[in-house]
Amino acid sequence: MKLTDIGQIKQLFDKYGFSFTKSLGQNFLINPTVCPKIAELGGVDGDTGVIEIGTGIGVLTRELAARGKKVVALEIDKTLSPILDETLGDLNNVEVIFADVLKTDLRQLISDKFGGMEVTVCANLPYYITSPVIMKLLEERLPIKSITVMVQLEAAQRICAPLGTRDCSSLTVAVNFYSKPRRLFNVKPGSFIPAPKVDSSVIRMDIYEQPPYTAEDEALFFTCVRQAFSQRRKQLANPISGYFGIPKDALCEKLISVGIKPTARAEELSMEDFVNLYHIIEQLKK
Ligand code: SAM
Repeated sequence: MKLTDIGQIKQLFDKYGFSFTKSLGQNFLINPTVCPKIAELGGVDGDTGVIEIGTGIGVLTRELAARGKKVVALEIDKTLSPILDETLGDLNNVEVIFADVLKTDLRQLISDKFGGMEVTVCANLPYYITSPVIMKLLEERLPIKSITVMVQLEAAQRICAPLGTRDCSSLTVAVNFYSKPRRLFNVKPGSFIPAPKVDSSVIRMDIYEQPPYTAEDEALFFTCVRQAFSQRRKQLANPISGYFGIPKDALCEKLISVGIKPTARAEELSMEDFVNLYHIIEQLKK
C-alpha cells in the first residue's frame, strides 16, 4: 500500500470511518520525497532507536522503521489504531503507544524500550505543541542524540536564528543552550493532506553531550530569558528590574561591568550575555 497516494488514503479513511481532528494538528504527509529525507537527514541507521511523535497513518513511521533498529511511536488519537494495525502490522520493529507525548515519561520510555541503543527523535510535529514538545525534549535532558522535526517555517526561522538577531526569541535561547540547531529543508503546503495554511520546514537539533554553557539553577536561567524577551522592544533593564524587584541602578551597574548595555534589547544579547545576566540576577535577587 502506498501511504502517500491520496486515493489509497481515502479508501483507508472510508474503510475505518476516520476523519481528521483539526485541533490535533493532523496534517499528514503525502509528498513521497519528504519522509525518506527526514529519516536520512535525521541520521537514522541500523543501530538507532527512534522516538516518533504523532504517527498519523504511519507514512514517516515506515521510513524510520526501514532504516532504524527500532521505532517507538506516540500517537494521541486512538481512532487511528485500526488504520495503523493495517499500515504497520507487517513491521516487527515498530511499537505504537497511544498517549499524549506531553504527559509521557520519556526518560522511562527510553530506558524501557531502547536499552542502551543510541536514540533520536524524528517527527512531523503537531504544530499546536511545537514549543512545549521541543522544550520537554531538551529540558528533561533525555539521553537522545538529536531531534529532527518538521515545524512551521516561522518556528524554524525563530529556532534557528542566530542569537543577537531580530528573529530570535526565548525558544531560540533555550534550543541553543542545549543543542546546535540547523535548518534542513522547506516543505510546501501541498505536501500535506489537508494542506496547512503556512509553509513548513524540517530542522535538526544536535544535542550537546557537554553543553558549552551551564546554569546551576536552570529554572531561574530560563525565567531570566523569558523576562528579558517579555517586552522585547523595550530596554532590557526595565522588565528585569521590575520582575525580580531589583533596584534599576544596581542592575545597570552590574550589566555594564559585564559589557551589557542597560539600553540593550533581549534580541541583541549573545548566549554569554544571557548567562552573565542570569549570574547577576542570582546575586542581586538575594
Ligand atoms: N507523522 C504523520 C505524517 O507525517 O503524516 C502525522 C503528522 S501530523 C502533523 C501530527 C500527528 O500528531 C497527528 O497524527 C496527531 O494526531 C498527533 N498528535 C497530536 N497531538 C499529539 C500529542 N499530544 N501526543 C502525541 N501525538 C499527538
